[in-house]
Amino acid sequence: MGFMDSLKTEQSKSIGGTRCAVCAFLETLPDKDAKEFQAGLEDKRFSHSSIVRASIAEFGVRLNPQSVARHRKKLCVSIT
Ligand SMILES: [Zn+2]
Repeated sequence: MGFMDSLKTEQSKSIGGTRCAVCAFLETLPDKDAKEFQAGLEDKRFSHSSIVRASIAEFGVRLNPQSVARHRKKLCVSIT
């Protein structure tokens, strides 16, 4: 196993071994929705909890505010 592989493995362990729920959710969205959702995530005017509530209202998906916070700080695994 190469160093990058080890690094990715360690990174995923450090976030509890589970994949970022927000990243996983983004992949399930059609392009148009994913773009809007991404724009909302990147807009600092919106709070984590607003994003959670809007996701429930719009997509019927309940995201964990901590996952949203982690994703927005780019602490989730974004290396692919
Ligand atoms: Zn993420």
